[in-house]
Amino acid sequence: MTATTETRPFEAEVAQVLHLVTHSLYSHKEIFLRELVSNASDACDKLRFEAIADPTLMAGDDLHIDVSFDKDARTITVRDSGIGMSRDEVVANIGTIASSGTRRFLEAMSGEQKADARLIGQFGVGFYSAFVVADRVVVRPRRADLAEAEGVQWESDGRGEYSLSQVALPARGTEVVLHLKPDEDEFLAAWTLRSLVTRYSDHVAFPIRMPVADGADAGDDAASPDGVGDAGGDSGNAGEATTPRWEAINSASALWARPKAEISDEDYQSFYKALGHDFNDAAAWTHNRVEGSQSFTTLLYLPAQPPFDLMMGGRDERKGLKLYIKRVFVMDAAEELLPNYLRFVRGVVDADDLPLNVSRELLQHNRQLDRIKGACVKRVLDLIEKLARDEPETFAAFHKAFGNTLKEGIGEDHANRERIAKLLRFASTGTTAAPAEPGRQMVSLDDYVARMPEGQDTIWYVTADSYAAAKGSPQLEAFRARDVEVLLMFDRIDEWMLGSLREYAGKRLQHVAKGELPLDDAAREARDAATTAATPLLSRLKALLGDRVADVRVSTRLTDSPSCLALADHDMAPHLARLLREAGQDVPESQATLEINPAHALLQRLDTEADDARAADLALLLLEQAEITAGAPLPDPAAFVQRMNRALMG
Ligand code: ADP
Repeated sequence: MTATTETRPFEAEVAQVLHLVTHSLYSHKEIFLRELVSNASDACDKLRFEAIADPTLMAGDDLHIDVSFDKDARTITVRDSGIGMSRDEVVANIGTIASSGTRRFLEAMSGEQKADARLIGQFGVGFYSAFVVADRVVVRPRRADLAEAEGVQWESDGRGEYSLSQVALPARGTEVVLHLKPDEDEFLAAWTLRSLVTRYSDHVAFPIRMPVADGADAGDDAASPDGVGDAGGDSGNAGEATTPRWEAINSASALWARPKAEISDEDYQSFYKALGHDFNDAAAWTHNRVEGSQSFTTLLYLPAQPPFDLMMGGRDERKGLKLYIKRVFVMDAAEELLPNYLRFVRGVVDADDLPLNVSRELLQHNRQLDRIKGACVKRVLDLIEKLARDEPETFAAFHKAFGNTLKEGIGEDHANRERIAKLLRFASTGTTAAPAEPGRQMVSLDDYVARMPEGQDTIWYVTADSYAAAKGSPQLEAFRARDVEVLLMFDRIDEWMLGSLREYAGKRLQHVAKGELPLDDAAREARDAATTAATPLLSRLKALLGDRVADVRVSTRLTDSPSCLALADHDMAPHLARLLREAGQDVPESQATLEINPAHALLQRLDTEADDARAADLALLLLEQAEITAGAPLPDPAAFVQRMNRALMG
């Protein structure tokens, strides 16, 4: 029946993926079944969708997924009556790796994450997991709209080549036959396959069927929670299986469409794992039905762990939020249904009232969808709030994973800015009134505001490159001396976020290098007196530093350090300017204002230094140390080192 058999090499990347997948999935071998069933389920989804426009596609067979094995031949077969594939589609889908996500996966996987099986499913390498347990895989698809004679047979040992031929296939859909490796016999047992299906794929919305054992391999079945019912309607079986009767072994209903009361936490978690291709439990979920002029159901999950590509450009191809219309899967619509800063959310939205022939373009300007999107955002924020309130530990882990993503919402989602800000946590200097280890405890803006002493109307923060740099900022000294709490911000996104977060709960947010602690009369007088006393010193410094500074003045911020930088209201923090320049952006040079602590011994020494060259060294060192602590780059490190050495040698 084979007309011509053609042998082709895999695309180079496929060979790499195959190698990686087979070598990194050892501890999770069994997920091959989940991945194949998930592909089969997608194929059924696609057929159901296409059949709306062309009902004849559905004729002849209902939608189901059959799992069987043959002990003698040592094969496992997964067959679906879904959309199938044409010859070109097989080549495109299974012989090449189109998505750039997979490329990124490959690049990253060559590093230390090599063995992280958790990542694999997220990159569309699902099918290749078959080669973890099989040394030969045969795929026989026939596209639903093609004739019996136009079936395809794809075959490979997963080592660089595959063969393609045309075969006659009586039934539409796809059959995948795994020829197991010598030591994989454990999968040749009804009980094993069945428990894997119920563990990983119970929620699949189509019947997953297995042959009813006729005595020989009588199943010492473990408890399987689902109802058993013959899916029936078996017409035109492909004939490869000898077993006459098939029995559905999963519950085969759309989980989100069932009443909440009937769904256990375990059901929710196993649905999440398949949906999110995650091995871990979700942190939390929210399941809601909205009835009214527009009815829809949402089931949204917060993962506990960040997916691999969250921070690195995963933006262009976001998956994980599926749009169904009246139970029919329509498309992955994460971008249409949720804003970017909630891109970690996984789930399902099932709308009753959208037209089934809706296109992505249409979705982008659809008012109904806007409402659904608004509801999704609200649900997710509610869920995170609830987590923060009721489960502090889970919330802390969630915040660690996704806090920085959430921060993007401050700039992106003006309407919800205050709600999002409420959910963020920051390191803080604490106050002496706060618990023992003040540094690393994470505080909310509400905590901060609640601790503000009477008369303080500013939320103070400092930004830096790292926790240590933030905590060590000289600008904090006076705050510390006066027991004023300061938030320590050291994530790259913080500075950007703060550009949009000027206020919280009616209090201004301000960088410690920008504002000044309000001075009482005594302090103001003291500063004025110090400035007067330091007049000659200030002019000497200005003369020595020339146009490297905008101004030199006496600081009210310092108690211990000799100098620090002060920023004007619209100045960019020096560490950020450096980051942006490193990233190739044009950042205008700005002159800093140097603040000094005239009481410090170094300034007293400068005041009495008769040697002009030595005074110049000292002045520049005072500026340079202020720049270093602020995260600014040294314009001339070698000159700095020479200066420092001259000073050290006296
Ligand atoms: P993913 O499912 O994540 O896209 P896979 O490597 O598992 O990645 O599958 C690649 C593609 O091959 C799928 O996107 C789909 O187009 C096609 N495919 C796989 N299995 C089937 C199947 N049973 N029926 C139809 N198409 C399939």
